[in-house]
Amino acid sequence: MPFWRSSSVLLILCALTLSQAFLQEGWPDNYQLTDGERFDFIVVGSGSAGSVLAARLSEVAHFRVLLIESGGDPPITSVVPGLLITLQGSKYDWNYQAQFDEGVGQAHPGRILPYHRGKVLGGSSSTNFLIYARGKPQDYEEWNRIAPGWDWNSVLYYFKKMENMSEETVMMNPRNAYLHSTEGPVKVSRPVTLASTAAIDNTRLECYEEMGIERVLEINGPEIGGAARPHFTIYGGRRSSTAEAYLRPAKDRPNLKVAKFSTVTKILIDPHTLRAYGGTANVFNEIDYVQLVLLHPLSRGQVKLRSTDPLDDPIIDLGYYRNAYDLKVAAEGVKYINTLINTTYFRKVQGEIPRLSVTGCEKIAWGSDEYWECYARNTVASLSHAVGTCSMGPDAVVDERLRVHHVAGLRVVDASVIPLIPSGNTNAPVMMIGEKAADMIKADYLEDIVEYNGKDFKSFAYTNEVW
Ligand SMILES: Cc1cc2nc3c(=O)[nH]c(=O)nc-3n(C[C@H](O)[C@H](O)[C@H](O)COP(=O)(O)OP(=O)(O)OC[C@H]3O[C@@H](n4cnc5c(N)ncnc54)[C@H](O)[C@@H]3O)c2cc1C
Repeated sequence: MPFWRSSSVLLILCALTLSQAFLQEGWPDNYQLTDGERFDFIVVGSGSAGSVLAARLSEVAHFRVLLIESGGDPPITSVVPGLLITLQGSKYDWNYQAQFDEGVGQAHPGRILPYHRGKVLGGSSSTNFLIYARGKPQDYEEWNRIAPGWDWNSVLYYFKKMENMSEETVMMNPRNAYLHSTEGPVKVSRPVTLASTAAIDNTRLECYEEMGIERVLEINGPEIGGAARPHFTIYGGRRSSTAEAYLRPAKDRPNLKVAKFSTVTKILIDPHTLRAYGGTANVFNEIDYVQLVLLHPLSRGQVKLRSTDPLDDPIIDLGYYRNAYDLKVAAEGVKYINTLINTTYFRKVQGEIPRLSVTGCEKIAWGSDEYWECYARNTVASLSHAVGTCSMGPDAVVDERLRVHHVAGLRVVDASVIPLIPSGNTNAPVMMIGEKAADMIKADYLEDIVEYNGKDFKSFAYTNEVW
Protein backbone atom coordinates (compact mmCIF):
# COMPACT_ATOMS: atom_id res chain seq x y z
CA MET A 1 0.00 0.00 0.00
CA PRO A 2 1.44 3.42 -0.88
CA PHE A 3 2.65 5.40 2.17
CA TRP A 4 0.11 8.18 1.75
CA ARG A 5 -2.74 5.72 1.85
CA SER A 6 -1.55 3.90 4.99
CA SER A 7 -0.95 7.22 6.77
CA SER A 8 -4.45 8.41 5.82
CA VAL A 9 -5.81 5.22 7.33
CA LEU A 10 -3.83 5.99 10.49
CA LEU A 11 -5.17 9.54 10.52
CA ILE A 12 -8.73 8.32 10.13
CA LEU A 13 -8.17 5.80 12.94
CA CYS A 14 -6.77 8.56 15.16
CA ALA A 15 -9.73 10.79 14.40
CA LEU A 16 -12.12 7.93 15.14
CA THR A 17 -10.39 7.20 18.46
CA LEU A 18 -10.58 10.86 19.41
CA SER A 19 -14.22 11.09 18.44
CA GLN A 20 -14.87 8.02 20.61
CA ALA A 21 -13.23 9.81 23.53
CA PHE A 22 -15.36 12.90 23.02
CA LEU A 23 -18.54 11.12 22.00
CA GLN A 24 -21.40 12.88 23.70
CA GLU A 25 -24.14 10.46 22.76
CA GLY A 26 -25.20 7.27 24.44
CA TRP A 27 -26.57 8.55 27.75
CA PRO A 28 -29.98 7.17 28.74
CA ASP A 29 -32.97 9.06 27.37
CA ASN A 30 -34.87 11.39 29.64
CA TYR A 31 -38.07 9.68 30.80
CA GLN A 32 -41.20 11.78 31.10
CA LEU A 33 -42.96 10.63 34.23
CA THR A 34 -46.74 10.57 34.28
CA ASP A 35 -48.96 10.73 37.32
CA GLY A 36 -49.77 7.42 38.97
CA GLU A 37 -47.01 5.35 37.34
CA ARG A 38 -45.77 2.45 39.43
CA PHE A 39 -42.25 1.03 39.76
CA ASP A 40 -40.77 -1.80 41.83
CA PHE A 41 -37.77 0.32 42.83
CA ILE A 42 -37.27 4.07 42.82
CA VAL A 43 -33.65 5.18 43.15
CA VAL A 44 -33.16 8.83 44.10
CA GLY A 45 -29.94 10.31 42.69
CA SER A 46 -27.74 8.81 40.00
CA GLY A 47 -24.44 9.29 41.82
CA SER A 48 -21.57 6.92 42.59
CA ALA A 49 -23.98 4.57 44.36
CA GLY A 50 -27.34 5.36 42.71
CA SER A 51 -26.28 4.58 39.13
CA VAL A 52 -24.69 1.30 40.19
CA LEU A 53 -27.80 0.32 42.12
CA ALA A 54 -30.26 1.22 39.36
CA ALA A 55 -28.21 -0.52 36.67
CA ARG A 56 -27.72 -3.69 38.72
CA LEU A 57 -31.37 -3.91 39.81
CA SER A 58 -32.50 -3.50 36.21
CA GLU A 59 -30.49 -6.62 35.29
CA VAL A 60 -33.56 -8.46 36.56
CA ALA A 61 -35.89 -8.13 33.62
CA HIS A 62 -39.09 -8.15 35.67
CA PHE A 63 -37.96 -5.39 38.07
CA ARG A 64 -39.24 -2.01 36.92
CA VAL A 65 -36.69 0.57 38.04
CA LEU A 66 -36.96 4.36 38.04
CA LEU A 67 -33.84 6.48 38.57
CA ILE A 68 -34.52 10.13 39.43
CA GLU A 69 -31.73 12.69 39.01
CA SER A 70 -31.69 16.46 39.57
CA GLY A 71 -29.05 17.03 36.87
CA GLY A 72 -28.73 16.08 33.20
CA ASP A 73 -26.13 14.42 30.97
CA PRO A 74 -22.43 14.83 31.76
CA PRO A 75 -20.87 17.60 29.64
CA ILE A 76 -17.63 17.22 27.68
CA THR A 77 -15.80 18.82 30.63
CA SER A 78 -16.80 15.81 32.70
CA VAL A 79 -16.03 13.20 30.05
CA VAL A 80 -12.53 14.54 29.29
CA PRO A 81 -10.55 14.21 32.52
CA GLY A 82 -8.21 17.14 31.81
CA LEU A 83 -11.11 19.60 31.86
CA LEU A 84 -12.46 18.68 35.29
CA ILE A 85 -11.39 21.88 36.99
CA THR A 86 -14.08 23.83 35.09
CA LEU A 87 -16.81 21.71 36.71
CA GLN A 88 -16.41 23.08 40.24
CA GLY A 89 -18.75 26.03 40.65
CA SER A 90 -20.56 25.31 37.36
CA LYS A 91 -24.19 24.30 36.81
CA TYR A 92 -23.08 20.67 37.20
CA ASP A 93 -22.28 21.37 40.86
CA TRP A 94 -24.71 21.88 43.75
CA ASN A 95 -22.42 24.74 44.85
CA TYR A 96 -23.06 24.39 48.54
CA GLN A 97 -21.31 26.53 51.11
CA ALA A 98 -19.95 24.96 54.25
CA GLN A 99 -19.27 26.78 57.48
CA PHE A 100 -16.25 26.58 59.80
CA ASP A 101 -16.49 27.11 63.55
CA GLU A 102 -15.34 30.39 65.09
CA GLY A 103 -11.52 30.62 65.00
CA VAL A 104 -11.15 27.91 62.32
CA GLY A 105 -10.61 28.35 58.54
CA GLN A 106 -9.91 32.08 58.81
CA ALA A 107 -7.79 31.98 55.64
CA HIS A 108 -11.05 31.34 53.73
CA PRO A 109 -13.06 34.53 53.08
CA GLY A 110 -15.99 34.70 55.48
CA ARG A 111 -14.92 31.34 57.02
CA ILE A 112 -16.97 29.75 54.24
CA LEU A 113 -15.76 26.80 52.18
CA PRO A 114 -17.30 26.15 48.74
CA TYR A 115 -18.57 22.59 49.11
CA HIS A 116 -18.79 20.72 45.82
CA ARG A 117 -21.17 17.86 44.89
CA GLY A 118 -21.96 16.69 41.38
CA LYS A 119 -25.43 17.56 40.03
CA VAL A 120 -25.39 15.46 36.89
CA LEU A 121 -25.79 11.83 35.78
CA GLY A 122 -23.07 9.98 37.68
CA GLY A 123 -23.24 12.54 40.53
CA SER A 124 -19.86 13.33 42.06
CA SER A 125 -18.28 10.43 40.13
CA SER A 126 -18.80 12.67 37.08
CA THR A 127 -17.14 15.71 38.65
CA ASN A 128 -14.55 14.36 41.08
CA PHE A 129 -10.76 14.23 40.83
CA LEU A 130 -10.81 10.61 39.58
CA ILE A 131 -8.44 9.09 42.14
CA TYR A 132 -9.21 5.42 42.66
CA ALA A 133 -8.52 4.28 46.23
CA ARG A 134 -10.33 1.66 48.27
CA GLY A 135 -8.89 2.04 51.75
CA LYS A 136 -7.33 -0.80 53.70
CA PRO A 137 -8.63 -4.19 54.90
CA GLN A 138 -8.38 -3.00 58.53
CA ASP A 139 -10.88 -0.21 57.75
CA TYR A 140 -13.50 -2.76 56.74
CA GLU A 141 -12.80 -5.07 59.68
CA GLU A 142 -13.58 -2.10 61.97
CA TRP A 143 -16.65 -1.28 59.89
CA ASN A 144 -17.77 -4.93 60.18
CA ARG A 145 -17.72 -4.66 63.99
CA ILE A 146 -20.38 -1.94 63.70
CA ALA A 147 -22.34 -3.50 60.82
CA PRO A 148 -21.80 -7.24 60.21
CA GLY A 149 -21.30 -8.28 56.60
CA TRP A 150 -18.91 -5.46 55.63
CA ASP A 151 -15.64 -7.27 56.42
CA TRP A 152 -12.75 -7.07 53.95
CA ASN A 153 -13.48 -10.41 52.25
CA SER A 154 -17.08 -9.45 51.60
CA VAL A 155 -16.32 -5.99 50.27
CA LEU A 156 -13.34 -7.18 48.21
CA TYR A 157 -15.73 -9.33 46.20
CA TYR A 158 -17.72 -6.21 45.28
CA PHE A 159 -14.64 -4.05 44.67
CA LYS A 160 -13.61 -6.70 42.16
CA LYS A 161 -17.08 -7.04 40.70
CA MET A 162 -17.07 -3.37 39.74
CA GLU A 163 -13.43 -3.06 38.64
CA ASN A 164 -11.77 -3.31 35.25
CA MET A 165 -8.07 -2.88 35.97
CA SER A 166 -6.18 -2.18 32.78
CA GLU A 167 -2.65 -1.90 34.13
CA GLU A 168 -0.64 -4.95 33.22
CA THR A 169 2.15 -4.46 35.78
CA VAL A 170 -0.49 -4.82 38.49
CA MET A 171 -2.22 -7.83 36.93
CA MET A 172 1.06 -9.61 36.25
CA ASN A 173 2.19 -9.37 39.87
CA PRO A 174 0.57 -12.19 41.90
CA ARG A 175 0.87 -10.21 45.19
CA ASN A 176 -1.39 -7.57 43.65
CA ALA A 177 -3.35 -9.35 40.94
CA TYR A 178 -5.64 -11.30 43.31
CA LEU A 179 -6.91 -7.97 44.65
CA HIS A 180 -8.10 -6.86 41.22
CA SER A 181 -10.33 -7.79 38.32
CA THR A 182 -10.36 -7.05 34.62
CA GLU A 183 -14.04 -7.91 34.17
CA GLY A 184 -16.01 -5.14 35.87
CA PRO A 185 -17.53 -2.03 34.31
CA VAL A 186 -15.43 0.69 36.06
CA LYS A 187 -12.25 1.18 34.08
CA VAL A 188 -9.16 1.89 36.14
CA SER A 189 -5.79 2.89 34.76
CA ARG A 190 -2.65 4.83 35.50
CA PRO A 191 -2.27 6.96 32.39
CA VAL A 192 1.28 7.26 31.11
CA THR A 193 2.51 10.74 31.88
CA LEU A 194 4.79 12.96 29.81
CA ALA A 195 8.50 12.24 30.32
CA SER A 196 8.86 15.55 32.17
CA THR A 197 5.96 14.80 34.54
CA ALA A 198 7.20 11.25 35.09
CA ALA A 199 10.58 12.67 36.15
CA ILE A 200 8.89 14.92 38.72
CA ASP A 201 6.83 11.99 40.04
CA ASN A 202 9.94 9.90 40.32
CA THR A 203 11.87 12.60 42.20
CA ARG A 204 8.96 13.04 44.57
CA LEU A 205 8.85 9.30 45.27
CA GLU A 206 12.63 9.27 45.84
CA CYS A 207 12.24 12.06 48.40
CA TYR A 208 9.55 10.08 50.23
CA GLU A 209 11.81 7.02 50.22
CA GLU A 210 14.55 9.08 51.87
CA MET A 211 12.00 10.06 54.51
CA GLY A 212 11.38 6.36 55.17
CA ILE A 213 8.15 5.98 53.15
CA GLU A 214 8.43 2.81 51.10
CA ARG A 215 7.76 2.97 47.36
CA VAL A 216 5.05 0.45 46.43
CA LEU A 217 3.56 -0.75 43.16
CA GLU A 218 0.13 0.75 43.84
CA ILE A 219 -1.93 2.31 46.61
CA ASN A 220 -4.56 -0.45 46.42
CA GLY A 221 -2.00 -3.21 46.91
CA PRO A 222 -1.34 -5.48 49.89
CA GLU A 223 0.86 -2.97 51.78
CA ILE A 224 -0.66 -0.90 54.58
CA GLY A 225 1.49 2.17 53.88
CA GLY A 226 3.72 3.38 51.08
CA ALA A 227 3.87 5.80 48.19
CA ALA A 228 2.95 5.31 44.52
CA ARG A 229 1.36 7.27 41.70
CA PRO A 230 -2.37 6.70 42.16
CA HIS A 231 -4.73 4.86 39.87
CA PHE A 232 -7.53 6.82 38.23
CA THR A 233 -11.04 6.02 36.99
CA ILE A 234 -9.94 6.87 33.46
CA TYR A 235 -9.53 4.79 30.35
CA GLY A 236 -8.99 5.69 26.70
CA GLY A 237 -9.15 9.39 27.50
CA ARG A 238 -12.62 9.15 29.08
CA ARG A 239 -13.77 9.46 32.67
CA SER A 240 -15.17 6.17 33.94
CA SER A 241 -17.96 7.72 36.01
CA THR A 242 -20.88 5.55 37.09
CA ALA A 243 -22.93 7.21 34.32
CA GLU A 244 -20.33 6.00 31.83
CA ALA A 245 -19.66 2.58 33.36
CA TYR A 246 -23.19 1.57 34.40
CA LEU A 247 -25.87 3.76 32.81
CA ARG A 248 -24.60 3.90 29.23
CA PRO A 249 -24.43 0.10 28.88
CA ALA A 250 -27.91 -0.22 30.47
CA LYS A 251 -29.57 2.62 28.59
CA ASP A 252 -31.66 0.43 26.27
CA ARG A 253 -33.16 -1.76 28.98
CA PRO A 254 -36.93 -1.37 28.76
CA ASN A 255 -37.25 -1.80 32.54
CA LEU A 256 -34.89 1.08 33.47
CA LYS A 257 -36.24 4.62 33.22
CA VAL A 258 -34.12 7.67 33.99
CA ALA A 259 -35.92 10.92 34.82
CA LYS A 260 -33.41 13.76 34.51
CA PHE A 261 -33.77 17.33 35.78
CA SER A 262 -36.12 15.94 38.41
CA THR A 263 -35.73 16.57 42.10
CA VAL A 264 -37.36 14.43 44.76
CA THR A 265 -38.87 16.64 47.43
CA LYS A 266 -40.77 14.19 49.59
CA ILE A 267 -40.88 10.50 50.53
CA LEU A 268 -44.34 9.42 51.65
CA ILE A 269 -44.56 7.13 54.66
CA ASP A 270 -47.82 5.41 55.59
CA PRO A 271 -48.44 6.34 59.26
CA HIS A 272 -50.05 2.96 60.03
CA THR A 273 -47.62 0.54 58.38
CA LEU A 274 -44.54 2.81 58.50
CA ARG A 275 -43.89 1.83 54.89
CA ALA A 276 -42.38 4.22 52.36
CA TYR A 277 -44.80 3.89 49.49
CA GLY A 278 -43.53 6.20 46.83
CA GLY A 279 -41.68 9.39 46.08
CA THR A 280 -43.14 12.44 44.44
CA ALA A 281 -40.96 14.03 41.84
CA ASN A 282 -41.13 17.65 40.79
CA VAL A 283 -40.24 17.38 37.16
CA PHE A 284 -38.41 20.48 36.02
CA ASN A 285 -37.96 20.33 32.31
CA GLU A 286 -35.57 23.27 32.10
CA ILE A 287 -33.32 21.81 32.85
CA ASP A 288 3.22 21.95 43.35
CA TYR A 289 2.22 21.39 46.52
CA VAL A 290 1.83 18.57 49.03
CA GLN A 291 -1.57 18.06 50.55
CA LEU A 292 -1.76 16.64 54.03
CA VAL A 293 -4.90 14.62 54.73
CA LEU A 294 -6.27 13.64 58.14
CA LEU A 295 -7.36 10.10 57.27
CA HIS A 296 -9.30 9.36 60.43
CA PRO A 297 -10.36 12.61 62.09
CA LEU A 298 -12.11 12.39 65.44
CA SER A 299 -14.06 15.63 64.98
CA ARG A 300 -17.60 15.42 63.68
CA GLY A 301 -19.70 17.91 61.70
CA GLN A 302 -23.38 17.89 60.84
CA VAL A 303 -25.74 18.47 57.93
CA LYS A 304 -28.95 20.20 58.98
CA LEU A 305 -32.08 21.39 57.21
CA ARG A 306 -32.06 25.15 56.72
CA SER A 307 -35.83 25.32 56.41
CA THR A 308 -38.86 23.19 55.58
CA ASP A 309 -38.33 24.00 51.87
CA PRO A 310 -36.70 20.85 50.39
CA LEU A 311 -35.11 22.94 47.65
CA ASP A 312 -33.21 25.12 50.14
CA ASP A 313 -29.50 24.32 50.53
CA PRO A 314 -28.72 22.46 53.75
CA ILE A 315 -26.56 23.92 56.50
CA ILE A 316 -23.20 22.17 56.29
CA ASP A 317 -21.49 22.53 59.61
CA LEU A 318 -17.94 21.21 59.07
CA GLY A 319 -17.00 20.80 62.72
CA TYR A 320 -13.28 20.67 61.88
CA TYR A 321 -10.97 20.49 64.90
CA ARG A 322 -13.78 20.22 67.42
CA ASN A 323 -11.70 17.39 68.81
CA ALA A 324 -8.41 19.02 69.86
CA TYR A 325 -6.46 15.83 69.10
CA ASP A 326 -7.07 16.37 65.36
CA LEU A 327 -5.25 19.70 65.51
CA LYS A 328 -2.24 18.12 67.22
CA VAL A 329 -2.10 15.42 64.52
CA ALA A 330 -2.47 17.97 61.70
CA ALA A 331 0.25 20.25 63.10
CA GLU A 332 2.62 17.29 63.57
CA GLY A 333 1.80 16.25 59.99
CA VAL A 334 2.70 19.67 58.61
CA LYS A 335 6.00 19.59 60.52
CA TYR A 336 6.74 16.12 59.16
CA ILE A 337 6.00 17.15 55.59
CA ASN A 338 8.30 20.13 56.05
CA THR A 339 11.20 17.70 56.52
CA LEU A 340 10.97 17.10 52.76
CA ILE A 341 13.24 20.10 52.61
CA ASN A 342 16.08 18.01 54.09
CA THR A 343 16.01 15.41 51.31
CA THR A 344 18.84 15.27 48.77
CA TYR A 345 16.81 16.74 45.93
CA PHE A 346 15.47 19.71 47.85
CA ARG A 347 18.90 20.42 49.38
CA LYS A 348 20.38 20.37 45.87
CA VAL A 349 17.84 22.84 44.51
CA GLN A 350 17.99 24.88 47.75
CA GLY A 351 14.29 24.40 48.33
CA GLU A 352 12.51 26.54 50.91
CA ILE A 353 9.23 26.32 52.78
CA PRO A 354 7.14 29.31 51.63
CA ARG A 355 6.55 31.81 54.44
CA LEU A 356 2.87 32.41 53.81
CA SER A 357 1.05 35.05 55.76
CA VAL A 358 -1.98 33.25 57.13
CA THR A 359 -4.96 35.22 58.45
CA GLY A 360 -5.15 34.73 62.18
CA CYS A 361 -1.48 33.67 62.56
CA GLU A 362 0.31 36.95 61.75
CA LYS A 363 1.43 37.56 65.32
CA ILE A 364 2.91 34.10 65.91
CA ALA A 365 6.61 33.36 65.31
CA TRP A 366 6.87 31.61 61.96
CA GLY A 367 8.02 27.99 62.28
CA SER A 368 7.14 27.60 65.97
CA ASP A 369 4.88 24.71 67.07
CA GLU A 370 2.22 27.28 67.87
CA TYR A 371 2.54 28.68 64.32
CA TRP A 372 2.01 25.28 62.66
CA GLU A 373 -1.05 24.65 64.80
CA CYS A 374 -2.42 28.02 63.80
CA TYR A 375 -1.53 27.32 60.16
CA ALA A 376 -3.31 23.94 60.19
CA ARG A 377 -6.35 25.42 61.96
CA ASN A 378 -6.83 28.28 59.52
CA THR A 379 -5.84 26.87 56.12
CA VAL A 380 -7.78 23.62 56.51
CA ALA A 381 -9.88 22.67 53.46
CA SER A 382 -11.89 19.64 52.33
CA LEU A 383 -11.31 16.79 49.90
CA SER A 384 -15.11 16.41 49.63
CA HIS A 385 -15.10 12.97 51.23
CA ALA A 386 -17.99 13.53 53.61
CA VAL A 387 -19.51 10.33 55.02
CA GLY A 388 -21.60 9.07 57.88
CA THR A 389 -24.60 11.42 58.08
CA CYS A 390 -26.97 8.40 57.79
CA SER A 391 -24.58 5.87 59.23
CA MET A 392 -25.24 2.13 59.40
CA GLY A 393 -25.25 0.43 62.77
CA PRO A 394 -27.64 -0.77 65.49
CA ASP A 395 -28.13 2.70 67.03
CA ALA A 396 -27.72 4.66 63.81
CA VAL A 397 -29.99 5.47 60.83
CA VAL A 398 -29.82 2.27 58.76
CA ASP A 399 -29.05 -1.34 59.59
CA GLU A 400 -26.27 -3.39 58.00
CA ARG A 401 -28.59 -4.17 55.05
CA LEU A 402 -29.06 -0.42 54.61
CA ARG A 403 -32.74 -0.47 55.63
CA VAL A 404 -33.88 2.64 57.48
CA HIS A 405 -34.65 1.56 61.05
CA HIS A 406 -38.39 1.32 61.75
CA VAL A 407 -39.45 2.23 58.18
CA ALA A 408 -40.34 -0.44 55.64
CA GLY A 409 -39.44 -0.20 51.97
CA LEU A 410 -36.78 2.50 52.37
CA ARG A 411 -33.01 2.14 52.17
CA VAL A 412 -30.14 4.60 52.04
CA VAL A 413 -27.38 3.66 49.60
CA ASP A 414 -24.65 6.30 49.29
CA ALA A 415 -21.62 7.77 51.08
CA SER A 416 -23.75 8.79 54.05
CA VAL A 417 -24.09 5.19 55.31
CA ILE A 418 -20.33 4.72 55.80
CA PRO A 419 -19.83 4.42 59.57
CA LEU A 420 -16.04 4.99 59.62
CA ILE A 421 -14.20 6.69 56.79
CA PRO A 422 -11.79 4.34 54.98
CA SER A 423 -8.10 5.25 54.66
CA GLY A 424 -8.41 6.83 51.26
CA ASN A 425 -10.81 8.51 48.88
CA THR A 426 -14.48 7.60 48.89
CA ASN A 427 -15.65 7.08 45.29
CA ALA A 428 -14.56 3.43 45.06
CA PRO A 429 -16.04 2.51 48.48
CA VAL A 430 -19.35 4.17 47.51
CA MET A 431 -19.51 2.30 44.19
CA MET A 432 -18.78 -0.88 46.17
CA ILE A 433 -21.73 -0.02 48.46
CA GLY A 434 -23.95 0.32 45.36
CA GLU A 435 -22.88 -3.12 44.14
CA LYS A 436 -23.38 -4.80 47.53
CA ALA A 437 -26.72 -3.09 48.10
CA ALA A 438 -27.98 -4.31 44.71
CA ASP A 439 -27.19 -7.90 45.68
CA MET A 440 -28.82 -7.45 49.10
CA ILE A 441 -32.00 -6.14 47.50
CA LYS A 442 -32.04 -8.87 44.85
CA ALA A 443 -31.56 -11.44 47.60
CA ASP A 444 -34.49 -9.96 49.55
CA TYR A 445 -36.84 -9.96 46.57
CA LEU A 446 -35.83 -13.06 44.59
CA GLU A 447 -35.97 -16.61 45.82
CA ASP A 448 -32.80 -18.75 45.74
CA ILE A 449 -30.52 -15.75 45.66
CA VAL A 450 -27.97 -15.15 48.39
CA GLU A 451 -25.56 -12.27 48.17
CA TYR A 452 -21.88 -12.81 48.72
CA ASN A 453 -20.98 -12.65 52.38
CA GLY A 454 -17.45 -13.99 52.35
CA LYS A 455 -18.60 -17.59 52.87
CA ASP A 456 -21.60 -19.09 51.16
CA PHE A 457 -21.79 -17.33 47.83
CA LYS A 458 -24.36 -19.02 45.60
CA SER A 459 -25.20 -16.75 42.73
CA PHE A 460 -24.17 -13.66 40.75
CA ALA A 461 -21.46 -14.09 38.23
CA TYR A 462 -19.73 -10.94 37.01
CA THR A 463 -22.28 -9.99 34.45
CA ASN A 464 -23.75 -6.96 32.90
CA GLU A 465 -26.45 -8.86 31.12
CA VAL A 466 -30.11 -8.83 31.88
CA TRP A 467 -31.37 -12.11 33.33
C1 LIG B 1 -14.91 17.86 43.82
C2 LIG B 1 -14.82 16.43 44.33
C3 LIG B 1 -13.65 15.72 44.16
C4 LIG B 1 -13.57 14.41 44.63
N1 LIG B 1 -12.46 13.67 44.32
C5 LIG B 1 -12.47 12.35 44.58
C6 LIG B 1 -11.43 11.51 44.09
O1 LIG B 1 -10.51 11.94 43.38
N2 LIG B 1 -11.50 10.18 44.39
C7 LIG B 1 -12.51 9.65 45.14
O2 LIG B 1 -12.49 8.45 45.39
N3 LIG B 1 -13.50 10.42 45.62
C8 LIG B 1 -13.52 11.74 45.32
N4 LIG B 1 -14.56 12.52 45.74
C9 LIG B 1 -15.60 11.91 46.59
C10 LIG B 1 -16.55 10.99 45.84
O3 LIG B 1 -16.74 11.42 44.52
C11 LIG B 1 -17.86 10.92 46.62
O4 LIG B 1 -17.63 10.39 47.91
C12 LIG B 1 -18.91 10.03 45.94
O5 LIG B 1 -19.08 10.39 44.60
C13 LIG B 1 -20.23 10.15 46.69
O6 LIG B 1 -21.19 9.32 46.05
P1 LIG B 1 -22.73 9.38 46.45
O7 LIG B 1 -23.41 8.34 45.64
O8 LIG B 1 -22.86 9.34 47.93
O9 LIG B 1 -23.19 10.85 46.03
P2 LIG B 1 -23.09 11.59 44.63
O10 LIG B 1 -22.17 10.87 43.71
O11 LIG B 1 -22.77 13.01 44.94
O12 LIG B 1 -24.55 11.46 44.01
C14 LIG B 1 -25.69 12.05 44.51
C15 LIG B 1 -26.62 12.27 43.31
O13 LIG B 1 -27.94 12.50 43.77
C16 LIG B 1 -28.50 13.61 43.06
N5 LIG B 1 -29.51 14.18 43.95
C17 LIG B 1 -29.30 14.75 45.16
N6 LIG B 1 -30.48 15.10 45.72
C18 LIG B 1 -31.44 14.73 44.84
C19 LIG B 1 -32.87 14.81 44.85
N7 LIG B 1 -33.52 15.33 45.88
N8 LIG B 1 -33.56 14.34 43.78
C20 LIG B 1 -32.90 13.80 42.72
N9 LIG B 1 -31.55 13.69 42.67
C21 LIG B 1 -30.83 14.15 43.72
C22 LIG B 1 -27.31 14.50 42.80
O14 LIG B 1 -27.55 15.42 41.75
C23 LIG B 1 -26.23 13.48 42.47
O15 LIG B 1 -26.24 13.13 41.12
C24 LIG B 1 -14.67 13.83 45.31
C25 LIG B 1 -15.87 14.55 45.48
C26 LIG B 1 -15.96 15.83 44.98
C27 LIG B 1 -17.26 16.58 45.13
